[in-house]
Amino acid sequence: MKVEVHGVVADCPACRGSDFVPEKAASRPLSSQSMMVCTGCRRRIRYIELLVQIGDKAIAQSQEMLEKIRADRDALRAKREEKPPE
Ligand SMILES: [Zn+2]
Repeated sequence: MKVEVHGVVADCPACRGSDFVPEKAASRPLSSQSMMVCTGCRRRIRYIELLVQIGDKAIAQSQEMLEKIRADRDALRAKREEKPPE
């Protein structure tokens, strides 16, 4: 299963895989302390750590977005200065 929040997917810190299974099949619903196992490399990671990673990624992505918006705005401003409106 993918661990995903708002389109941001957690990946395995060891192999970058994004498919996890609960360590104990019975541990559903998942709690923050549930242990997950990467299906790619069998690394164990706590569910909460995957959620924290998603939070960090979401922050990084929104900063990237903000930088892009700023760059676009600066480019637009520069263009406007090049060509005055007719
Ligand atoms: Zn892995």
